[in-house]
Amino acid sequence: MSPRRNSPRRKQGGRTPPPPDGDALVLRITGGERRETGPDGDWVVRRISGAAAAKTYRCPGCAQDIPPHTPHVVAWRPFGDGEDRRHWHSSCWDNRLRRGVRPPRR
Ligand SMILES: [Zn+2]
Repeated sequence: MSPRRNSPRRKQGGRTPPPPDGDALVLRITGGERRETGPDGDWVVRRISGAAAAKTYRCPGCAQDIPPHTPHVVAWRPFGDGEDRRHWHSSCWDNRLRRGVRPPRR
């Protein structure tokens, strides 16, 4: 008897459904979160692609809007229920720690 080939088929190559107007779902679709630890504590960080960004958000780093379809970063505390989630410009997120630290002068 030949062994049964029972490899589960992973769904792939399909297209991602358009993001609904609710960022909890957007977050689930885009995936790929990671943990970052900084002087300001632990964060869960997720990169949002331009295609997944369907709404305008306010960036807490620069207090400017993040227009739809702009790749950006979402960060929230790993504890809690995610209600403290914030959308940042990617550069503002990266720069937020640098703000208190002066770059070395030449
Ligand atoms: Zn910003």
